[in-house]
Amino acid sequence: MKAEIIAVGTELLLGDILNTNAQYLAKRLADMGINVYHQSVVGDNPLRVKEEFSLAFSRSDIVIATGGLGPTKDDLTKEIGGKFFNKKMVLHKESLKEIQDYFKEQNKPLTENNKKQAYFPEGSIILPNDFGTAPGCIIKNHSKILILLPGPPRENIPMFEKYAASYLEKLTNYVLVSKVLRICGLGESTVVTKISDIIDNQCNPTVAPYAKQNEVTLRLTAKAKTRQEGLNLIKPVELKIKNILKDSIYGENNITLEDTVAKKLIEKNLTISIAESCTGGLLCGKLINYPGISKVLLEGAVTYSNEAKIKRLNVKKETLKNFGAVSKETAMEMAEGIAKSSHTHIGLSTTGIAGPSGGTKEKPVGLVYIGLYIKGTLSYIKLNLAGNRQNIRYSSVIAALDFLRRNL
Ligand code: AMP
Ligand code: MG
Repeated sequence: MKAEIIAVGTELLLGDILNTNAQYLAKRLADMGINVYHQSVVGDNPLRVKEEFSLAFSRSDIVIATGGLGPTKDDLTKEIGGKFFNKKMVLHKESLKEIQDYFKEQNKPLTENNKKQAYFPEGSIILPNDFGTAPGCIIKNHSKILILLPGPPRENIPMFEKYAASYLEKLTNYVLVSKVLRICGLGESTVVTKISDIIDNQCNPTVAPYAKQNEVTLRLTAKAKTRQEGLNLIKPVELKIKNILKDSIYGENNITLEDTVAKKLIEKNLTISIAESCTGGLLCGKLINYPGISKVLLEGAVTYSNEAKIKRLNVKKETLKNFGAVSKETAMEMAEGIAKSSHTHIGLSTTGIAGPSGGTKEKPVGLVYIGLYIKGTLSYIKLNLAGNRQNIRYSSVIAALDFLRRNL
């Protein structure tokens, strides 16, 4: 079963808005095991929309078109779809009544062009619009299926989920089930080497590695008759991978690193405070992304200057003089100082050279120390990071969170 997505709207071609409908629908069709080999965007032009339909149906069984169902002159998708399949437009009385009721409720006069939204190609299945006036429809012509959905995502997504998804699910006899494993602290090539046996012998599920900045994900995808059967196929492979990568896997599916760390802190009832130099608040901000972090995160301090490190964190003058602000000694004194002054179980610190200037031969740009104090025990990691100032700061935050996670 092949489907493709056509987004109709000149505003999309001009780059005024992002084609988020296609992204959403593509993901959902993949979940259903429907192959999508093509996506396209076309302006509100009847000839070009018709050409797009011809091309799409020459290679696909199902076409989902979004946009152009509204009341205005340039909303033409439905009319072009009807013409394409030689079907005349007929009035759908219930839709007309719903449109009339909608305008009554809003205390607005029903204009003639709004009635256009109640006409559909003959024989269509009507998809009600619970969040707007333009209903969608499914037009079937022999083996070809055209599904028309409204443009606004807040109408498009609920209509797809409530009225179109079940129709599509009945057309396929299998589902694709995916599980994502999230990995931190190992590069993509290391991950792939460690699980090369599994990758080389993959079949069902498939195992696809994907590298993002500072993290690697593995997507395990199984093709099966039911979702449960798919999960059963994934389970043994997932366990094998977990056995190899162990605690380098920080979470599954959509969880973030900060979510994982925050959940662990809350679960263990461990309070934390943070002292930041080169990351300048980014680390604290990342943790604050997690709703409910206030239970354990008590304080964050940006201590950029030596004076601030001395005054706020009790870092010793001699430490700064003998080892410098970017040193393991300073990092650990920062972590201890913030924990003790904030009365938290944990203190976490960052200090480093984010560049572009300030590097020396002994202490190059990208040298960063993370200090960690947990209930009296001090530790640190040394990082040699690459990239520009922003990359170095962001990578430091991820490394600090990961260091903390592995020590919880
Ligand atoms: P339309 O149904 O074509 O009149 O579209 C109405 C509005 O929906 C547009 O002005 C956009 O804001 C939004 N929209 C249309 N198509 C898309 C799309 N493919 N992705 C995201 N938003 C869209
Ligand atoms: Mg439009």
